[in-house]
Amino acid sequence: MKALIVVDMQNDFMPGGSLAVPGANELVPLINQLLKVFPLSIGTQDWHPTNHISFASNHSGKVPGESIVTGDLLQTLWPIHCVQNTLGSEFVNGLEANRFAKIFQKGVDPEIDSYSTFFDNARLKETGLSHYLHKKGVTELYFVGVATDYCILYSVLDAIDQGFQAYVITDGCLGIDLEAGDITRSYAAMAASGAHFLNSSEIVSALSLP
Ligand SMILES: [Zn+2]
Repeated sequence: MKALIVVDMQNDFMPGGSLAVPGANELVPLINQLLKVFPLSIGTQDWHPTNHISFASNHSGKVPGESIVTGDLLQTLWPIHCVQNTLGSEFVNGLEANRFAKIFQKGVDPEIDSYSTFFDNARLKETGLSHYLHKKGVTELYFVGVATDYCILYSVLDAIDQGFQAYVITDGCLGIDLEAGDITRSYAAMAASGAHFLNSSEIVSALSLP
């Protein structure tokens, strides 16, 4: 069975939001079209407490874009974004979120960030997504949303690691390119791990066949 994973289509990642991915709001019609044809769709949300480690403002003298070392992880620092139960963490207006069978939230622990929708960045805690999908009999995951070079990238790598076939719907994903070339490098890393790439029209046609 196929499932659509809609990654982090939240206000703070949209133009005008605190961590905007340019053009991300323009993905909404395409994603809604996919939500209509997939047999199962999952939404994910970045879902941080106010004292989250990834916020530059929680580290004196640090600004977004800088990094800190925590344990053996390099933590990139970001503007305050996707704080739990705020407008910024809500799904973008117009997204047909009522079609999500379930919503998985990540980055809820103040001490550790989570780019992947499966595990935190230290791989200490699971979100439960892998177990949920295996239990549903899902074998193929199709990814859309933001950002290609963070949450899409790490979710796709973990999906493959968890035994799923991973497909990236390329016209349904947008990235940040904090460092020029990050998006290109992300696609290369996903390809090297065995991810597949396709256009939304291909999967919409395939799923719409009688
Ligand atoms: Zn975050």
